[in-house]
Amino acid sequence: MKVTQYITVDMGLGKRIALVAHDNMKQEMIDWATEHRQELSQHTLCGTGTTAGLVSRATGLTVTGYRSGPLGGDMQLGSRITEGEIDLMVFFWDPLTQQPHDPDVKALLRIAALYNIPVATNRATADFLLSSPLMHETYPRRLMDFSQHMQARIGD
Ligand code: PGA
Repeated sequence: MKVTQYITVDMGLGKRIALVAHDNMKQEMIDWATEHRQELSQHTLCGTGTTAGLVSRATGLTVTGYRSGPLGGDMQLGSRITEGEIDLMVFFWDPLTQQPHDPDVKALLRIAALYNIPVATNRATADFLLSSPLMHETYPRRLMDFSQHMQARIGD
């Protein structure tokens, strides 16, 4: 795919953060979210169903829950990313265990890369991400100009 033009989409001051953790990583996510509760409270949170419920229960924060990951939650998050509704993602995927929804996991990570969404896939990266000064600034996210690509395909 050849795309030569880019646009920018501004991330606002408060970020819309998606949270996902595979089963063996859920305690890690709960610990991380609890440690960063104050910072996370300044943003808008969503996540796959079980992760969202557990983080919400542990922190008292509102976390909008989609379907559970294996039931389509990862794909729902991917869809929200394409619609510009998610600014960044903390995704603690399990590097030691195969998942029934591995294709969805791969798809979600691909869409996040394509749409230039910051993604933390382990706790250290999540710590770095959350402590970035950009968390409290507007940020011009660079994005491929897909309309140009579609025009070329349709031959308009
Ligand atoms: P869950 O989904 O939060 O509903 O467990 C996460 C996943 O396994 O993708």
